[in-house]
Amino acid sequence: EATFTTVEDGKLYMATNAAFPPYEMIADDGSYEGIDVEIATAIAASLGLELVVDDMDFGTVIIAVQNGKSDIAMAGLTVTDERKQNVDFSDSYATGIQVVIVADGGAVQSIDDMEGDDIMIGTQEGTTGYIYCSAPVEEYGYGEEHVIAYANGATAVQALMAGKVDCVVIDNQPAIEFVAANEGLSILDTEFAVEDYAIGVSKDNTALSAAINEALAALIADGTVQSIVDKYIVA
Ligand code: GLN
Repeated sequence: EATFTTVEDGKLYMATNAAFPPYEMIADDGSYEGIDVEIATAIAASLGLELVVDDMDFGTVIIAVQNGKSDIAMAGLTVTDERKQNVDFSDSYATGIQVVIVADGGAVQSIDDMEGDDIMIGTQEGTTGYIYCSAPVEEYGYGEEHVIAYANGATAVQALMAGKVDCVVIDNQPAIEFVAANEGLSILDTEFAVEDYAIGVSKDNTALSAAINEALAALIADGTVQSIVDKYIVA
């Protein structure tokens, strides 16, 4: 039997940004809900732990794991080579697609329009959307000067509604929810990037990583993960 330690005995602290529906958000009664929250709750239960959601800016979820404040980072978190230098990733449990939200009648109506000299792109701070878009033009980005990083997806979408940016690059499932909740927005057909979501764990806690992968595999095999996804995403 593998032994692992957590920040606090009997608890599993999950660093997340609860403004990323349907993966993590705050319910009307103030509780945390969403696909990640429910999968993490199920993993915690398999390990005999109680989940504690630690809500913070997305840009700090990996740091929280690195400095031992949280046990896991679970935030629709995309696996990237850079992030792998800072945390270990579990096996992937979902696919994310970066998409572009535009305003009806606005300056961006296609991916090509994003190259315009006056175009401003809204993103979320620290996300892969920000990283891709702010890269220099030679590296297939649009240049930092064309990108604004907001604290979360909801504020980036508000900036689009207010005309402060011409489009928002964000993950597909939150995009669908933001577009459904606001008039006059739509999602471009062209996908920007396809990514894997996984759970970030401290590089010093390989026993916890192994335990999480074992629990996750069982929850995938017995259909729990799919039933959680189906509850939040109507195909
Ligand atoms: N999947 C994106 C990333 O990891 C965005 C995640 C988020 O905003 N919560 O960068």
